[in-house]
Amino acid sequence: MSLRVTNLCLSVEQSELELNDVVARQLRLKPGDLARLRILRKSLDARSRGDMKFVYTLEVEPRPGVTVTRKPGDCEVAQYQPEQFDDPPDGKAPLGQRPIVVGAGPGGLLAGYYLARRGYAPLILERGKPVKERVPAIRLFDSGGPHDPENNYLFGEGGAGAFSDGKLTCRMTGADVDWVLQSFVDCGGRPSLVYENRPHLGSNKLPMICRNYRRKIEALGGEYRFDCRVEGLRSQEGRIVGVETSSGFIAGNVVIFAPGHSARETYRWLLAAGVPIHQKAFQLGLRIEQPQEQVNRWKYGHERYLDLLGAADYSLGAKGDRDLYTFCMCAGGYVIPSVSDPGLFCSNGMSNSRHDSPFANSGLMVTLQPAEFGGEHPLAGVELQARYEKLAFELSRNYLAPIQWANDFVAGRRTASTDKLPSSYERGVIPADLHEVLPPAIAQAIARGLPQLDQKSRGMMLKNATLVGPEMRGSAPVRIERDAESRDTPGFTGFYPVGEGAGYAGGIVSAAVDGLRSAREIVRRYAPVTT
Ligand code: FAD
Repeated sequence: MSLRVTNLCLSVEQSELELNDVVARQLRLKPGDLARLRILRKSLDARSRGDMKFVYTLEVEPRPGVTVTRKPGDCEVAQYQPEQFDDPPDGKAPLGQRPIVVGAGPGGLLAGYYLARRGYAPLILERGKPVKERVPAIRLFDSGGPHDPENNYLFGEGGAGAFSDGKLTCRMTGADVDWVLQSFVDCGGRPSLVYENRPHLGSNKLPMICRNYRRKIEALGGEYRFDCRVEGLRSQEGRIVGVETSSGFIAGNVVIFAPGHSARETYRWLLAAGVPIHQKAFQLGLRIEQPQEQVNRWKYGHERYLDLLGAADYSLGAKGDRDLYTFCMCAGGYVIPSVSDPGLFCSNGMSNSRHDSPFANSGLMVTLQPAEFGGEHPLAGVELQARYEKLAFELSRNYLAPIQWANDFVAGRRTASTDKLPSSYERGVIPADLHEVLPPAIAQAIARGLPQLDQKSRGMMLKNATLVGPEMRGSAPVRIERDAESRDTPGFTGFYPVGEGAGYAGGIVSAAVDGLRSAREIVRRYAPVTT
C-alpha cells in the first residue's frame, strides 16, 4: 500500500536525489525502508526571498513489512488513492464513417489522439500546413514579409498552441489533466512535466511534439489532411452527415469541431446553418514588456537563484471596478503578432524552453461582459475584437507593433515618436497612444490598475516598461451550445464543438482536456468503424 506525502520541502539548492533520505527521516524510517518514491507535484515556495523552497507531494511505497507508526515530521501523510482515468468500453451505435476532427490545435489533437488510441482511426482536417512547413511562413512574416492567411502563428498544424509559449498550467486537476500531460511526455516532453507546478515546453519544442502526436496518430490508423479548410456542415433530420471543405465534401456522422477562436468566419457559417451560438464574456487588454533582469532582481533578490531557477516569472492582480491581472507571462520571451486575418493587428507572447531573451512580457487582461459588446447579435463580441484590431493595424502600418511607455499610458501622455523604445517584437514597433486600440473602459481599467501592480512588484510594472497591443484574444467571445452530458449540439447530433473556439477552454491543457472528453463520449456511444 502506498502513501501520499504532502508538504515535503527541500531548499532550492538541494538535489532531488536527497528526497528519499529526507522523506524517510520525516516518516521516522530508515532510507532503505522505502521501495519506491514518485513525485506527484512540485511547486516553488518563493515567499521568502532569502529562503526559497520546493514543496513536494510524493507517492511513497514502503518495503513489505515496513509501516509508519510514529507521527511524521513537518509533512502530512495519508493513504494514496489514485484517481482512475475514465476509459469506457466501446459503444454499440454504428458509426458509419470514421470520426472527423476539424482543426489540429490542442483541442483537436488530443481528441484525435484519444480516438486513435482507442481504434477509431480519426480523419483530421487542418486548413494549414504541417508544422514544419508553417515555420518558413512565420519567419518570413516576422522579418517583414507578407501575411499568409492559412499558415501563421494561429493556423496550421498545432494551431495557436504550436508557437505558443507552451505553458501547460491549468486550473483543473485530476485524471484527465494527468492523462493529457502524460501524452505530452510520451510525445517528447520532459518527464517532469507531469508534476511541475508550472510546466513549460517552450515554443522551440512544440513543433517536434506536434509532429510526434501526428506520427503516433497515423501509426494507429488515423489520417491527416492538410490545406483542407472546412467551410460548412451538412446535416439531415437533425444529424450531421458530413462537412463541406475547400477540397470537396467529406461524409461523416461524427465531427469534433476544434477551430480555435481566430477562425472567425467559421462562426458566421455555423450561425447561418442554424447552430446555436451565444455571446460570452472574454478577456482583452495589452501586453507589457520589461527587462528580464529587472524581474529577476525583484523576485530573487539574490543572483544565486538565477542559475538554479532560471528566468523569474510573475503573476499579479489589481482590484478595482474591474479587476486587472497579468496573464500568459513569458519569462525571457518575445512579443509576437497574433494575426490570423490580413489587415488586423493583435499581440501575444512566447518564450523558448531556455527563457533566454533579455525581455519579460505578460498580458495585462481585463474581462469584458456581453452587455458591453454594443449589440445583441451572437457575434457582436467578435465584431468588436475585429474593430479594435483594425484600428491597431491602421496605426501599426504593416504589422509593426503599436507601442507606448507604460508610464505614458498611465499618465495619458503620448510617447514621443523620437524615443527609442526597447522591444523584442521582431518586425518593428511604432509609437502610438494605446488608449486608441481598446474600448475606453478597458484602457481606463489598465491605466488605474497598473500603478497597483507596480506597487506590488517594487516598481517593475512602470519603470522601463513598455506596452504593446491590443491583446484581444484572451478567450473566445462566444460559446457554441452543446449538451452537458452527450457533448454534442442540440439539433445537430454528432456535432461536437470543443476547445477555445467553441468557448469551453482557455489555454493548451484546458482545450486538450475538452477535446479528450468529447472524444471519450464518442467512444462511449459508438462502435469503431471496421474497414
Ligand atoms: P487552436 O489552437 O486555435 O487550433 C485551432 C486549429 O484549427 C488551428 O490549427 C487552425 O488552423 C484550425 N482551423 C481553424 N479553422 C479551420 C477550418 N475551418 N478548417 C480546418 N481547420 C481549421 N495557452 C497556454 O495554455 N499556455 C501558453 O503558454 C499559451 N501561449 C500562447 C501564446 C500565443 C502566441 C498564442 C496565440 C496562444 C497561447 N496560448 C497559450 C493559448 C493556446 O494556444 C490556446 O488556448 C489553444 O491553442 C487553443 O486550442 P484549440 O485547439 O481550441 O484551438
